[in-house]
Amino acid sequence: MCGIFGMIGKSNVVPNVLGGIEGLEYRGYDSAGIGYIEKNKVKVIKQVGEIKNLKTEVGRVNPVSFNCVAHTRWATHGKPNKTNAHPFVSTNKDFCLVHNGIIENYAELKKQLNCKFLSETDSEVILKLIEKYYCENMLETLVKVSKLLKGSYALAIISSKEPDKLFVSKMVSPCVVGISADGTKVCSDINGIGKVDYSYVLENNNFAVLTVDGIKIYNEKLEQVKLKKIKVEKSDINNKGKFDYFMQKEIYEIPNSVNNTVNLYQTFEQFEKVLPKTIVKKTKNIIIVGCGTAYHAGLMGRKIFEQNLNINIKNELASEFIYSKFVPPKNTLMIFVSQSGETADTLKALKIAKQYGLKTIAITNVKNSSISFIADYCFYTLAGAEVAVASTKAYVSQLSMFYLLASYFKEVIMDKIGLVESTANNLKNISKQINLTKFNILANNVANDIYLSQSLYMIGRNFDYVTALESSLKLKEISYIHSEAYASGELKHGTISLIDNNTFVFAFLTEKDLLEKSLSNVNEVISRGGKVILLTQYNLKSDNVYKLIKLNNIDEFYMPIVVIVIMQLIAFHVSVLKKLNPDKPRSLAKSVTVE
Ligand code: GLU
Repeated sequence: MCGIFGMIGKSNVVPNVLGGIEGLEYRGYDSAGIGYIEKNKVKVIKQVGEIKNLKTEVGRVNPVSFNCVAHTRWATHGKPNKTNAHPFVSTNKDFCLVHNGIIENYAELKKQLNCKFLSETDSEVILKLIEKYYCENMLETLVKVSKLLKGSYALAIISSKEPDKLFVSKMVSPCVVGISADGTKVCSDINGIGKVDYSYVLENNNFAVLTVDGIKIYNEKLEQVKLKKIKVEKSDINNKGKFDYFMQKEIYEIPNSVNNTVNLYQTFEQFEKVLPKTIVKKTKNIIIVGCGTAYHAGLMGRKIFEQNLNINIKNELASEFIYSKFVPPKNTLMIFVSQSGETADTLKALKIAKQYGLKTIAITNVKNSSISFIADYCFYTLAGAEVAVASTKAYVSQLSMFYLLASYFKEVIMDKIGLVESTANNLKNISKQINLTKFNILANNVANDIYLSQSLYMIGRNFDYVTALESSLKLKEISYIHSEAYASGELKHGTISLIDNNTFVFAFLTEKDLLEKSLSNVNEVISRGGKVILLTQYNLKSDNVYKLIKLNNIDEFYMPIVVIVIMQLIAFHVSVLKKLNPDKPRSLAKSVTVE
């Protein structure tokens, strides 16, 4: 997914640019590099691994530059080594480029170019094209080259031929440019751009030319375009506070995240301002789309809606939906869930929905993100910047949003006054039940039991099944323990053969009506020697279970919000016990902006 940052300024911008990519490290951290103009020459420093390695090397070289681009990589093409790290410099040493995205026709272009490539990346092909087609004007060259590219890219380019300019171009991959008193900047994420007076979120086929005191943006016809000026809110993206890891800090922020989201949508009128009643009344089908954790939030969203209303609801994985033969039923409303608002698969699915003329809702955590612009109606989860790769507080805020949204639908369709407000109050009360100190001790204790496991299972029915899916994903993401979630009733249809004396099985039993059936499944596991860790608020016989986690007796409809926090903390402690970095799990990156 990579992060790019560049700046052209009045004084040495190297420290700003290094700070800039540090704020983007959540996007990738397998290697990093900077390219800069020094005494009218292009120079590059790259290192494998996290940005701290690059910083050490930069400290040794001590470059001074007014025009610099930087990159933190999440490899898509070619191993994460120094050769494949960005920036790339042309053979004639005139051009230097960083790229975020994937050039889908890179193999074909490589063949056509028929020249020597140093790296295995798709990105290097762009540089070779620039070198080939350069016409003493980088803007024109860039427009010409971009017509040859298929796929996604945010590019930042500097050149010794035009040393006082920084060139940017964008297709699909997110890209923001901004102006400050100290110079102009380009960044992959609006929250990472730092201090600017205002910024512009680039659109597809925009080309920007940054100089020390201004930015000009063009379209592919080389006409200047005027984009909306956006004021950037201050963000605390690099601050861990009193915590050692962002992930733990972000879990501790969950009660606030829930409250902030609720405060934004706690009345019927607040909803009506975003989503007109007429749209709700017309809706006969809802399709909820997302990826990873956001997909799970959507699964829970479906269950929440189904408890309230008589509407057909389906869930779709964005990456599958975009290649499915889709026949939209009449009066379909689609809901797209994405923490970053930039998830490439979700964005593509949203565009497909728009092509079909369907009404679309976005649920996202990032203001001015692509999804927020494209969807017809946008609801923001106010979880605050989420830096740790594994999503925690954003997931819980997405669930809160679904509880509120479903109550708005119910209030409109069934004419029941006060539902949004009572749901908002319920959510605020539930957030008080998230006792982080207690949960943290409990989670640490359970983590000590399971952290040496090779493999484990999580089971539940209905809402609890979705909790199992998300808990299992969390553990996999940051502890690398193989974990699978099963609908409790499904276990006996195959997977129970894998349960033996050493297998831990988390069982979620928070729904009264399903207790008996779910308990039978727990007993089936115990009979095969499985060590069951049972989470419930009910008084159940616990003689044969390995561990019982007794939950507070709250309204079970809201239990998914509480249980997941405990499970997120368990995953966090397992990761720490295994001496891993929960914030930066291997091979993963946040904000998945490539397909
Ligand atoms: N495709 C480029 C590479 O592998 C950029 C990757 C990305 O932006 O995710 O280096």
